[in-house]
Amino acid sequence: MINISKKQTDMPVQDAAVRNNNFDEVALGFSEEQAIREAMRCLRCRKHPCMTEGCPVHNNIPEFIAKITECDFEGAYSVLSETTSMPAICSRVCPRYKQCEGKCVRAKNGGQPVAIGALERFVADLHRINNTPKVETCTAPGSKKVAVIGAGPSGLACAEALADQGFRVTIFEKKNIPGGVLTYGIPEFRLPKEIVEKKIDDLNEKGIEIETGKELGEDFSLDELTGKYGFSAVFIGNGAGKPVSLGIPGQEAEGILTAASFLEKANIEKTLPSAKKIIIVGGGNVAMDVCRCAVRIRGAEKVTVVYRRSPEEMPADPGELKEAIEEGVEVMYLTGPVEALSTDGKVSGLKCIRMELSVPDASGRRKPVPVKGSEFVLEADLIIEAIGSSSDNECLSGMELSENKYIVADPETGATSITGIFAGGDTMTGPKTVISAMNAGRKAAMAIAEYLRS
Ligand code: SF4
Ligand code: SF4
Repeated sequence: MINISKKQTDMPVQDAAVRNNNFDEVALGFSEEQAIREAMRCLRCRKHPCMTEGCPVHNNIPEFIAKITECDFEGAYSVLSETTSMPAICSRVCPRYKQCEGKCVRAKNGGQPVAIGALERFVADLHRINNTPKVETCTAPGSKKVAVIGAGPSGLACAEALADQGFRVTIFEKKNIPGGVLTYGIPEFRLPKEIVEKKIDDLNEKGIEIETGKELGEDFSLDELTGKYGFSAVFIGNGAGKPVSLGIPGQEAEGILTAASFLEKANIEKTLPSAKKIIIVGGGNVAMDVCRCAVRIRGAEKVTVVYRRSPEEMPADPGELKEAIEEGVEVMYLTGPVEALSTDGKVSGLKCIRMELSVPDASGRRKPVPVKGSEFVLEADLIIEAIGSSSDNECLSGMELSENKYIVADPETGATSITGIFAGGDTMTGPKTVISAMNAGRKAAMAIAEYLRS
């Protein structure tokens, strides 16, 4: 029977006043009863736009949700497994409001969409907790070897899909821990590390080797991989993690960090810098992750996000923004950074200027322009730049790169300008979502398998 409620079943969350003192996951997940009640809201629409237009990997949403209503949770997991290799991860980090849930017909006429992500998470978590996975080494001795560069979402997905087809896969990762943005970027309160570690363990069980601390251009070259190391094909999924800098005067002061280095301290070193007044510059999801970590700094008194456009243009997920504000973050819109101020070499404040919006720029958003004479100073002992990242592909000589140094590759197969070398994810598209990187890795794996068999 269909549940006709226009409202989603609420997922329990940690209270804001409690969670801003810990790094435990904020959302606590559906109980079985809540999941079934929410699954009953799905209309199993004939055109199911959630799946065809919303989900980048076209998860069979009405089908997996129907299995939940039948209490066939393992069946639901099997449906998801046909199209995604990371349901526990993507259900937590996808921008669902503009993907699957953004297209759900239940959201029309003032209703709320079916909580597709929460249901996917319920199914994936139940599977992880209750099932001893049937992971087996898939590789056959003598099968062809493939090198995967980067152990982030695209690299892990590509490696897994290749191993499932019997190829021998080695992942080369420049950091000391695999996972890429899943490990180093996304905070524990959004994506518990044990989920990522479990994924990596499963890949090891499948016979995939992961060599950490190995960087392309430093420790090996593409020629060496395909030459002396004997790999028959290479997939490059090294992301786009080079931080973009504000480039304002005073930037050299102590106490100015990039989002990447701050998040690495929070996620890996588990030691946040001590600071009382923290300013985050930027308005995307990384800025949200940073400011929400910053409110968790012991002794933090004020955490301010400075964003140069208005709320309508802000790219951050509205759910993340809401949770950040609940946790005590303040957002100053239409505010641009002008100069970092310092005392004795240590940052002491950020000179800002009011902005107003003019005509749309190349991104389609209205361009912010400074209001003359409106400068003012915000006190700060820590400033974190979260204004984006770019590619780090200077070492790829001989390969066709775009003007911004992203790899030029076939969007369907990942084939680059060099035969036998494939690429996908952020290194090709610029920073996008985990699910699109995972999808690119899986698609490239299919193309690599075909290339190696032909
Ligand atoms: Fe939605 Fe992402 Fe899951 Fe697709 S993978 S159904 S977009 S949460
Ligand atoms: Fe169910 Fe919404 Fe998808 Fe329709 S659009 S099948 S109601 S999840």
